[in-house]
Amino acid sequence: MTRMIPLLERNDQFARTYAPAALSPPATQVAVITCLDHRVDPAIVLGLRLGDAIVIRNTGGRVTQAVIDDIAYLAFLAEQVFSDQVAAEGLFEVAVIHHTQCGTGFLADQAFRHRAAEATGIAEAALAASAVADPDITVRADVERLLTSPQISPMVRVSGHVYDIATGRVTTALNARNPRPAGQVSPAGA
Ligand SMILES: [Zn+2]
Repeated sequence: MTRMIPLLERNDQFARTYAPAALSPPATQVAVITCLDHRVDPAIVLGLRLGDAIVIRNTGGRVTQAVIDDIAYLAFLAEQVFSDQVAAEGLFEVAVIHHTQCGTGFLADQAFRHRAAEATGIAEAALAASAVADPDITVRADVERLLTSPQISPMVRVSGHVYDIATGRVTTALNARNPRPAGQVSPAGA
């Protein structure tokens, strides 16, 4: 037995009217990074349909090295494969969305974090780095981390948002920016 049985029945309904789409950039040209929390499903919260947006989810929706690697590869893929379908203003926008009442908030407490490290084998520093106690603060830190990463293409834009579990509303904390201001010449090339 598997608890997937009722979900597979839903999939059967889905597949009955399904029409596959061609490989192409996401329709909204947005890549969402958000928490894996089941109350924060971007398909529902943002009304995404199949093919609309890239979604990367992890604990807290934090910009980890793995997330940076994913975005770097997606930008490379977009440049290489979809250059004729890419908008003039850039490849795509990365929207980092943190949320209130995040389960990682407990990790801001040192004693809780210590117990979690002992039980899971995860380094205490890594647990501390994944904590979202105040989403307004962490989302700004993570947008900055993406914007300052040398791996991120200057053709990618990054924005930051907070989802309020109590109201269902997403509020923009930081509008979309490129890693470097447009037209700025890098010192290395000067
Ligand atoms: Zn969360």
